[in-house]
Amino acid sequence: MTGHVNVIGAGLAGLSAAMALVEAGRGVTLHEAGPAAGGRCRSYFDRALGLRIDNGNHLLLSGNVAAMAYLDRIGARNSMTGPGDALFPFMDLATAERWTVAPGAGWLPWWLLDRSRHVPGARLADLLSLAKLRFAGPTATVADTLGGTELYRRLLEPLAISALNTPPEQALARLMWAVVEGSLLKGGAACVPMMPRVGLSESFIDPAVAWLEARGAVLRVSHRISALEIEGRRVVSLRGPDGPVLIGPNDDIVLATPAWIAGDLLPELPTPLAFETIVNIHYRIGADPGPAGFIGLVGGMAEWIFIKPGVVSITISAANRLLNHSPDELAEQVWGEVRGALDLPGPMPPVRVVREKRATFAATAENERRRPVPRPPAAPANLAVAGDWTATGLPATIEGAIRSGLAAAKSLMPA
Ligand SMILES: Cc1cc2nc3c(=O)[nH]c(=O)nc-3n(C[C@H](O)[C@H](O)[C@H](O)COP(=O)(O)OP(=O)(O)OC[C@H]3O[C@@H](n4cnc5c(N)ncnc54)[C@H](O)[C@@H]3O)c2cc1C
Repeated sequence: MTGHVNVIGAGLAGLSAAMALVEAGRGVTLHEAGPAAGGRCRSYFDRALGLRIDNGNHLLLSGNVAAMAYLDRIGARNSMTGPGDALFPFMDLATAERWTVAPGAGWLPWWLLDRSRHVPGARLADLLSLAKLRFAGPTATVADTLGGTELYRRLLEPLAISALNTPPEQALARLMWAVVEGSLLKGGAACVPMMPRVGLSESFIDPAVAWLEARGAVLRVSHRISALEIEGRRVVSLRGPDGPVLIGPNDDIVLATPAWIAGDLLPELPTPLAFETIVNIHYRIGADPGPAGFIGLVGGMAEWIFIKPGVVSITISAANRLLNHSPDELAEQVWGEVRGALDLPGPMPPVRVVREKRATFAATAENERRRPVPRPPAAPANLAVAGDWTATGLPATIEGAIRSGLAAAKSLMPA
């Protein structure tokens, strides 16, 4: 098939699919409901703070191979910053103890037991428990498989909560294995943390849109697709805000919206049904970024503090449990933790609380069964699906979203 491809949704999955299709010589139009591309990975100007902020703090690891290739292709690898080495400073809010996890080069993570790069209190048995993830059953959870050790409390639990955005008592051990296999078990070279120097849009989105437009692709923003018209087993038109978009006999579609929209547009498609919130709290204040530009916290409500120029942002994942707390209450409580961790003086500075209620699908066994492959049997013959919620084998992450776009594009190419 060599016709045009209409990509619905210009988040990372849609952009990555569009790039692969353009490289394969296909004409591409992206239809994006929002006023700009980016979806759940975007930056915007916040009036209350008087600052441009990201919708959420995003951390990438050097072992995220598809994300690294994506950044290289759009010429944006240098827009990322970080410590340059595998370095994760931590603090225990309950005891005020501080330590730095610094993965060594080897594939067996003996360094977890090394006092100079250590997780305090970690023992050999804790380290060996990592192997249990590999053989975990299809419904085994992270807490059941790993729980109870100091290594778990001080490293694996915070990593699991942030990578899987799901309480460890519900989160699938197999998805945690995919994270550990692509990072800790590959050694330090795969564990270098990175975040955008300026913002998510500046690193991941704007250069990708420029790359696509320079190669003839078209991005239509504020162009929500509200229905797919299907005849036989093919989509023949998309319903847009200003009329139908006709789909020719050789044309294809990549459906790259979030799961719940894909489920509305194609009710017969299985999609994850449960989601988790991520809370980010942005305080307008300067602070010493330390060696990494972020700190992991255990024993409190905040999980990660990111220190950027003029703003200190915290992340709380798996945060459905906090939805009945008011934003003011959350901001006050977390400010106490931030002040302590960064040794900041004074009253709470101007603040913005951002609650992304459906930040990612919950990484549970039930949802995992509902993640479709790129060409699901239930979908029309000229349509592929993409998104961090499709069957990537990974939790909902930048890496998963980008890989899903590549897989959708590949599924539309001649064998
Ligand atoms: C607060 C937060 C923190 C995160 N932190 C991390 C992190 O640290 N590391 C990490 O790797 N990942 C992180 N993630 C996950 C990462 O952002 C997502 O996995 C990724 O952005 C999902 O991309 P996507 O393209 O699959 O979906 P989306 O970004 O949701 O893109 C879908 C697009 O479809 C558009 N759309 C919806 N309906 C329609 C329609 N009817 N017609 C046309 N367009 C439509 C949407 O507007 C959107 O632009 C985080 C996510 C959040 C929310």
